[in-house]
Amino acid sequence: MNIPACTAATETQPYLPFARPHIDEATIDAVADVLRSGWITTGARSAQLESELSDFCGGRIVKLFTSATTALEVALNVAGVRAGDEVITTAMSFAATANVILRTGARPVFVDAELATRNIDASRVETAITSRTRAIMPVHFAGRPVDMDTVYAIARKHGLRVIEDAAHALGASWRGSRIGAIGDLVVFSFHPNKNMTTIEGGALVLDHEVEARNVDLQRFHGIRRDAKGDIDVVAAGGKSNLTDVAAAVGLGQLRRLEEFNARRRDLAERYFEQLVDDGLVETPARADDSHCWHIFTPLLPLERMAIGRADFVRRMHERGIGVGVHYPAIPGLSLYRELGYELEDYPNAARIGSATVTLPLFPAMSRSDVDRVCRALRAVLAEAGARGRT
Ligand SMILES: *Cc1c(COP(=O)(O)O)cnc(C)c1O
Repeated sequence: MNIPACTAATETQPYLPFARPHIDEATIDAVADVLRSGWITTGARSAQLESELSDFCGGRIVKLFTSATTALEVALNVAGVRAGDEVITTAMSFAATANVILRTGARPVFVDAELATRNIDASRVETAITSRTRAIMPVHFAGRPVDMDTVYAIARKHGLRVIEDAAHALGASWRGSRIGAIGDLVVFSFHPNKNMTTIEGGALVLDHEVEARNVDLQRFHGIRRDAKGDIDVVAAGGKSNLTDVAAAVGLGQLRRLEEFNARRRDLAERYFEQLVDDGLVETPARADDSHCWHIFTPLLPLERMAIGRADFVRRMHERGIGVGVHYPAIPGLSLYRELGYELEDYPNAARIGSATVTLPLFPAMSRSDVDRVCRALRAVLAEAGARGRT
């Protein structure tokens, strides 16, 4: 996080960023042990993290990467997505979701998001399928699982692969099964803002040994060792293996994940208690414990405000509160406009993208921190002339 420490802190209260990783002392000691050990790149700690994540994901194969972005790109490649193909994805996500599709030479086909869940509108996926469609790439937005039944039924019916962008969803579940423990290719992110971190990093979850060997080649120079131990290169692989230093961070984080997510759920619940009734902002749909609340993202009442979103963010910052924006709708970004996409074709994503703000939510926060955020939000909106329900 590059938020300058305490620049806008009040005299009594520290600055509240919208996200902050919690690294405990035991993890810092474990990192120091790796640094002193003489083996700092991929080794025993990475193998252990892959194994523990595999246990977490019902015994499926897990491959660590330096980022979710790279893991998604490799997943598309392994799924056979090539130049000229189409991949169906959501118009409301971080740009990486669609960028990786472009990087394979394929074309992202966007489906609008649902307003209340921010997730891809699964009921519209089937009509987006053409003879060129190879895969569907849903995003579990903010940690709320997409309608997995519908997405996978469509995939089976049309013979498509599914690559789940589960960057937000470590610890979320669908009908009692963890995201990652079910499904096709599933990718998690361990960026510092995500529900657990390896500083930078990601993981790809998959089932098939043959595909896993292909992933290994993509991840490390295309190197294959034969039975005698001799090295050969059989593919123009890239280089995106996670270090043991990063894996040591991840092992300490994974141990705390359920606790972190329980706190996130409780903080999200406090936001609902504070914000639902007065209707000042439009909260996302409430959820049960299947949601892991990576981010809490209400929509501002821009049509009732005398200031824009950037001013809102600045005024919250002046009150010691960091506010993020997740995300501008992908089809409206310059790259995608230049490729011929039109934001107006995705009205829900357009509306979310223009009005969304991300309020502070991280495990070290307390319910009274949430109350403080909500007081500041009400004060700034009152200054801006916006009123809630009377
Ligand atoms: C963070 C994120 C990514 C990329 O993750 P990295 O590990 O930073 O590469 C991809 N998709 C979504 C939805 C994300 O939020």
